[in-house]
Amino acid sequence: MNRQMRILVVEDEEAIRTGLIDVLVFHGYEVDSAAAGPEGLEKALTGTFDLILLDIMLPGMDGYEICDRIRAIDRNQPIIMLTAKTSDDEIIHGLKLGADDYVPKPFSVQQLVLRIEAVLRRSQVGKEQARTLHIGDIEIDTENLSGMNGTNEIAFTRREIDVLSYLAQNTDRPVSREELLSKVWGYARGLDIETRTVDIHIAKLRRKIETDPKEPSMLITVRGAGYRLVMEN
Ligand code: CA
Repeated sequence: MNRQMRILVVEDEEAIRTGLIDVLVFHGYEVDSAAAGPEGLEKALTGTFDLILLDIMLPGMDGYEICDRIRAIDRNQPIIMLTAKTSDDEIIHGLKLGADDYVPKPFSVQQLVLRIEAVLRRSQVGKEQARTLHIGDIEIDTENLSGMNGTNEIAFTRREIDVLSYLAQNTDRPVSREELLSKVWGYARGLDIETRTVDIHIAKLRRKIETDPKEPSMLITVRGAGYRLVMEN
């Protein structure tokens, strides 16, 4: 790597924040940090970071709102949420707002570092993906992260586009959640990761591209095998 990767840590608990900073600096990253929500948002919006680690419960403004506000202007920014809340609702909410992934607290430093490295490696998919994807009647610009369905414009996150691109390259077969985690998220097999992250990204994509998200005709589930993309109606 030619330049140091920059990570922003937004975390109010001092012991966790300083612990994260120490670990990340030890691994060669340049780290900035914020201990409160508004400060975290300001740094996120004014600085340039390869990754933002975002706690949820923060003074002043919670991590959900910060994530939402970042996504409103930057759909490329990789964001991993740190969550002490392990209830499905909380995790799903963060992913719906556009986080790339979540890491439940307490986390093992080794697991977190592996996931950070995966995010920063940037998917292999991205480099090979076609500039334009045609899925049904929808035309998707994979660089601008936007799609047109008739006159309706659809906004995608970088991760959503990478999922679609990977499925588009493999339309002849179902792709398992584990394969998506490996190829799109860059996670090595054996990493202790739940597949819920994949399912929530698929659900979001269905709401964006399917006429009836509950009866998908393009992003279909192949029971016991994974997901398959049908490009033509
Ligand atoms: Ca907190």
